[in-house]
Amino acid sequence: MDGPSGSGKSSTSRGVATRLGLRYLDTGAQFRAVTAWMIGHDVDFSDPAAIAARSGEPEIVSGTDPQDPTITVDGRDVAAQIRTQAVTDHVSAVAAVPEVRRRLLELQRAIIGDGGIVVEGRDIGSVVAPDAEVKVYLTADPSARAQRRTAENGAGSVEATQADLLRRDRIDSGRAVAPAMMPDGAVHIDTTPYSLDEVVDQVVGLVRQAGLERQP
Ligand code: C5P
Repeated sequence: MDGPSGSGKSSTSRGVATRLGLRYLDTGAQFRAVTAWMIGHDVDFSDPAAIAARSGEPEIVSGTDPQDPTITVDGRDVAAQIRTQAVTDHVSAVAAVPEVRRRLLELQRAIIGDGGIVVEGRDIGSVVAPDAEVKVYLTADPSARAQRRTAENGAGSVEATQADLLRRDRIDSGRAVAPAMMPDGAVHIDTTPYSLDEVVDQVVGLVRQAGLERQP
């Protein structure tokens, strides 16, 4: 499941995984966790070579229960830290570094294994799992995205959040490696007019149509 921040991809992915008894992986949280580690180690974010040089050091572990997804770095729970403004400010620069992407790609494929998982991010259907059985690309109007993300964060102004989302969209879709995009073969859903439950229903419908629902 791909799409920009605030498109509803996190809540939809978790909802779909819960409904279908699948695992769940938030790859954005992994990029954020690497960024949090780099903040703690005073890495210079204006220097891609400095980011690349340290990219192999943080030990990232993602828990894949959709009702309780966890993320640790070097054994430390960073679930709250990865949502801070400092991490949001620097994550797109970190995600544009090929060495970081290579390392996380390996980790993501190891977690995906034989499947049975809903994976969300910017390059899942195009790079991480091009053979995924169902690909969904979610979008929403910028103002709807900003309102949702501000509500999730429980702080900040909608205007500042919208400016920040658009800034990251520009970096994420303009970067040289794995630019954020709608993958080949994806179904596009504009979530703007729908509630979360309605979007989950639509995606579960796609999985059922594909004949992929697991029997209990
Ligand atoms: O999804 P979220 O907003 O938490 O992602 C944070 C950042 O991580 C994105 O802005 C993007 O730079 C990066 N990212 C990525 N590829 C992914 C997931 C996230 O480049 N698959």
